[in-house]
Amino acid sequence: MSNCIFCKIIAGEIPSYKVYEDEFVLAFFDINPVNPGHTLVVPKKHFANIEEADEETLCQIVKVLKKVGLSLKKNLGAPGYNVQVNNDPAAGQIVPHLHFHLVPRADGDGLKLWPQKKYLETEAEEVLNKIKIT
Ligand code: AMP
Ligand code: ZN
Repeated sequence: MSNCIFCKIIAGEIPSYKVYEDEFVLAFFDINPVNPGHTLVVPKKHFANIEEADEETLCQIVKVLKKVGLSLKKNLGAPGYNVQVNNDPAAGQIVPHLHFHLVPRADGDGLKLWPQKKYLETEAEEVLNKIKIT
């Protein structure tokens, strides 16, 4: 996609700190990291979101998440990491090229995950009936 910033990074038109690259996937530093080493794992082909991407591409991305995650643990000493996809603008996606955030964590780094709530009485069944895949 010609005006996509991540397509431009993949094409080498915009510089990036490349962590890993293969035929299908590029992993590079997020320019505004949550923690140092925060990496974006993206398919080389332009897809807007998870549903658009083919299964082969998604499998390749997950393989790279594992590789980079291992490197963050082994070489950066991260005791853990978060994997997050902001899938569509309603979920906070700003760059419209599918990307997985890999955020290395440090013990006591103060990052808070999202707040949780309880289901109302029959709400779990109602929602399940709508979305269950049979
Ligand atoms: P999202 O809200 O999931 O779409 O996040 C997009 C991410 O892309 C943000 O965390 C930005 O910091 C990051 N970003 C935007 N432009 C660049 C760039 N040129 N190089 C690296 N990361 C970028
Ligand atoms: Zn793109």
